[in-house]
Amino acid sequence: MCVLDVADKNLTPLRLADNNYGPAEEVQTAQESKAKWRSKPLHGRYLNTIESEAMDTEGSTTYLRTGNLFIETEGFIAALQDQVVSTKIYRRNILKEQVDNAKCRMCGEKDEYLDHILSGCSVLAPKAYLDRHNRVAGIVHQNLRVEYMGLTETTPYYQYTPQPVYETENALLYWNRPIITDRTIPNNIPDIVLTLKNEKRTYIIDIAVPLPSNIMKTHAEKINKYLPLADEIKKMWKMESVTIVPIVVGATGEIPHKLHAGLKTLKLQNGLYIPIQKSVLLDTCSIVRRVLGDQE
Ligand SMILES: [Zn+2]
Repeated sequence: MCVLDVADKNLTPLRLADNNYGPAEEVQTAQESKAKWRSKPLHGRYLNTIESEAMDTEGSTTYLRTGNLFIETEGFIAALQDQVVSTKIYRRNILKEQVDNAKCRMCGEKDEYLDHILSGCSVLAPKAYLDRHNRVAGIVHQNLRVEYMGLTETTPYYQYTPQPVYETENALLYWNRPIITDRTIPNNIPDIVLTLKNEKRTYIIDIAVPLPSNIMKTHAEKINKYLPLADEIKKMWKMESVTIVPIVVGATGEIPHKLHAGLKTLKLQNGLYIPIQKSVLLDTCSIVRRVLGDQE
């Protein structure tokens, strides 16, 4: 039985055990099985995404090697990445079921594609997506306090609630705090702002968890969004440098090379992408399960 079979309890509509997904009849090389996987239209999309040049292919599947998720969760993530989850659109278009109303059961506005549930639903945005986003931001924030502010006793990431401001002799750390500027700057509330006073450096850090296909676009948008604020901070606070550091992770755990670069810029340990990935995956699984209902 493969991982997908274990996860396939109606939520993923394929009867995987009856299908060709069981143990391969013959041993395939990784290359061969990838080629076979890619040739299936729904599956190819995920592989193509994580194998694009901008992505850390290895890192995007780290969660499979660390063994810190339940096997059912791993199976469910595979189903999400392959888009074999029983959304209304999937049931209508792939399973050819009679679905009279294919609008999202949460917002009733958009068609219920999996992508919509993963990151596009207006009803999920204010709480579910925000919580997922804030947990990633919290991991980064707490580790900045360890690195720059002498924090020694850390809190489990899912219980971590930062204060808006922390300050030590050399460092100032803002969480979700409007930056007061002389002239009006429309985007003046980054998730995190770190200032190292002695070095006269400021980092504007902003987190996003988009669809895997939007990772690079989101990264670029974050930079553009905060350029005016970066300029203003540099002048107002007389900084040597102000660096915008987007932290962008795909909603199904995809890791771009730029995430590693961002952690390095902040002098955080590179291994931090592992708890970040885990946190995103657990939240994404719980969002989809909650929306589609517990059909087990
Ligand atoms: Zn919706």
